[in-house]
Amino acid sequence: MSETRIYNFSAGPSMLPLSVLEKAASEMTNYHGSGMSVMEMSHRSKVYDTIIKETEASLRRVLSIPEGYKVLFLQGGATTQFAAIPMNLLKTGKADYALTGNFANNAYKEALKFGDIHLAFSSKDTNFDHVPSQDELDIRPDADYFYICANNTIYGTEYHYDPVTPAGVPLVADMSSNILSKPVDVSKYGVIYAGAQKNMGPAGVTVVIVREDLLGNYPLEKYPVMLDWKTMADKDSMYNTPPTYGIYILGLVLEWVEQMGGVKAMQERAEKRAGMLYDYLDSQDFYKAVARKDSRSNMNVTFRTGNDELDAKFAKESMAAGMSNLKGHRSVGGMRASIYNAMPMEGVEKLIDFMKKFAADNA
Ligand SMILES: *Cc1c(COP(=O)(O)O)cnc(C)c1O
Repeated sequence: MSETRIYNFSAGPSMLPLSVLEKAASEMTNYHGSGMSVMEMSHRSKVYDTIIKETEASLRRVLSIPEGYKVLFLQGGATTQFAAIPMNLLKTGKADYALTGNFANNAYKEALKFGDIHLAFSSKDTNFDHVPSQDELDIRPDADYFYICANNTIYGTEYHYDPVTPAGVPLVADMSSNILSKPVDVSKYGVIYAGAQKNMGPAGVTVVIVREDLLGNYPLEKYPVMLDWKTMADKDSMYNTPPTYGIYILGLVLEWVEQMGGVKAMQERAEKRAGMLYDYLDSQDFYKAVARKDSRSNMNVTFRTGNDELDAKFAKESMAAGMSNLKGHRSVGGMRASIYNAMPMEGVEKLIDFMKKFAADNA
């Protein structure tokens, strides 16, 4: 099975560790002697209760989530949270957003339906090639929260610091595409959330980590109960059926992260993988890196040749060479190598070898 696998550079859903997939396969039809698959189990059963509790406990260990934060396992993807965030957090009706790409923009557009939303920053004029520095942020001191997209999956930019907000303004971050790739000081955030399918598991589970004092402002009489974080927190994510199988796989991925040395080790690996690619990009002039140097993502590396036909040829020939999904997103063009936690170093080495050969053949 393993020798037919290819290096999958997909932005998401994306590669999972082979050992996780093999373990899931071995437990597929009979989980721990229960006589059934995890996907056939009642979410209220004792055996499933252990799975969800252990998954939460490992997430808390891996991310060092402090006391005073709830962990929710929800459905609907990160995109559902674009609406849930203003619905749960607006009190005065004001919120500020940093516009750094497509997903930040989608979140901003949802928020506009609910309140007075101000852009504290935008890099739209330069086609989202960078994230703001602290000095560039214009956050209103009376905003109910300040929102960032921590890693811009499509453009290949990432915050390498935790933005500081005015006193009392909680920081809210979409970490869908860089969660578990480095340590994070959760205490600096009011809300961290992420769809699982980039770096945590299969599509279908969305993790929300929320500071408890931010719960309880949701107008339940007006809005759907499913998007109320407090209801979900009070019911341990089981107001209704949670995404049971996705949570189980997330548990296996977290177990793998811990075996590998935790998020510190993930960060070292990520810096090494991305560093090799950026060093190569900086050493030649056939390809151009898309993101500004100070904002480069360790998860999604964007580059182009400057010639659309050559870019298309690159995508096609790299696929034939055993590397999939290197075509860039349509809004950026060029190429994008998504190199999440599960991407082995050899995948990036193979990509760089291919890039060198392609450059030599097409220069
Ligand atoms: C993929 C992605 C999303 C969208 O996630 P869905 O689960 O498809 O809703 C949102 N934000 C970021 C940063 C992403 O990478």
